[in-house]
Amino acid sequence: MTAPFTQVIHVPPMAGELTGSWFRRMALGYKLPPQDLVRAITGARITGTPRTGIELFLNSPARAAAAAFSGLEYGRLATLLPSFASTHERLTDETVPLAAWYAPQQAWVAACPPCKGRAFSPGQPVLLYPGHSGHICVRHQRWLLPSSVQAASIKLESFPEVTAAHRHHSGLGRVSAQAHLAVIFAAAVVWSWQIQGWRNEEIWNQRTSRLARATGCDRSTVAAHALVTYPETIAVARLLANERWQHRLREQATNAGIPAATGMLLAELARRTNRPWLADWLTACGRLSRRAGKHAAEADLLTRWVTALTTDCRTGPSPPADLWTVPHSAVRPLHYSDRSSFLIDTSPRAATELARNASLAEGWEPAQPLPALHKAPCR
Ligand SMILES: [Zn+2]
Repeated sequence: MTAPFTQVIHVPPMAGELTGSWFRRMALGYKLPPQDLVRAITGARITGTPRTGIELFLNSPARAAAAAFSGLEYGRLATLLPSFASTHERLTDETVPLAAWYAPQQAWVAACPPCKGRAFSPGQPVLLYPGHSGHICVRHQRWLLPSSVQAASIKLESFPEVTAAHRHHSGLGRVSAQAHLAVIFAAAVVWSWQIQGWRNEEIWNQRTSRLARATGCDRSTVAAHALVTYPETIAVARLLANERWQHRLREQATNAGIPAATGMLLAELARRTNRPWLADWLTACGRLSRRAGKHAAEADLLTRWVTALTTDCRTGPSPPADLWTVPHSAVRPLHYSDRSSFLIDTSPRAATELARNASLAEGWEPAQPLPALHKAPCR
């Protein structure tokens, strides 16, 4: 316990919580502004404010002070708070305690209130890093959204296909070490479909309308949200990561060639995504792309994937290292406005602003995370 506090108020950090969220909740307990609490606990010189950055980054001396104050072991804090032991590139001076409020380096969400029990406060939600598939509360059927001032979520009662996809997503993560890469690759595949056939696609149009109703926003605001294509993304990822299917495709390529194996894959994808026309449509799109001069491998990610899976003597149990590589030009855009600009006729900037106000932008995405911060060693 350090000088300015006359009473210890225990506010345990939650697993996966943002360090800044933990400090905000402690400040609430002590009835102090978060900035004053950070200064009192760590003695740090602070850059930014809780208004300018959601996440709080500390250098080593400030981390040691925070651990001493909390009464928890440093390693325990580092386990619970994913960014606690990270050294931000702008906080490399280790001679004096330093702290800074910056943007989180990964997607974050407000935790599901009923799941957080006493840790929940109406004006101060627990903010969490959802990781690969923690963006949905299975128990309460909510898609969790990024809001630092209130618990924000999309109720999923009217999206049974989304909750089903999430079950498969979680299951995929348990059985496949390649799950995360497969989901990123699948997101790029589905994005390539979305920008080619969006306006005529009945299932996505219908889901977009349901999402607009569920959020109280208009269709152009929600069009770029990850929920719209989540079921198809997980369906593609599951199939591509399935080792039995990989084996079947290798056999088909050996016996009948890569186009036949690709056709087999497309037929199964058509079945799993409930789009009987998918194989013909993708084949036609591929022809058009080649006529338009696009590099075939980039224009058709699935053909590229089948080729990588089946070429040469790649018959061992492990998939080739480049199997999940997505060409830069084919990556699903990470930013909401970049996606909106492909999907709507109205201003993507205005749609993104509305989406941000509704906490629909900047949440969980099936995307490549930013490079991990350097982790300081546990003390
Ligand atoms: Zn919950």
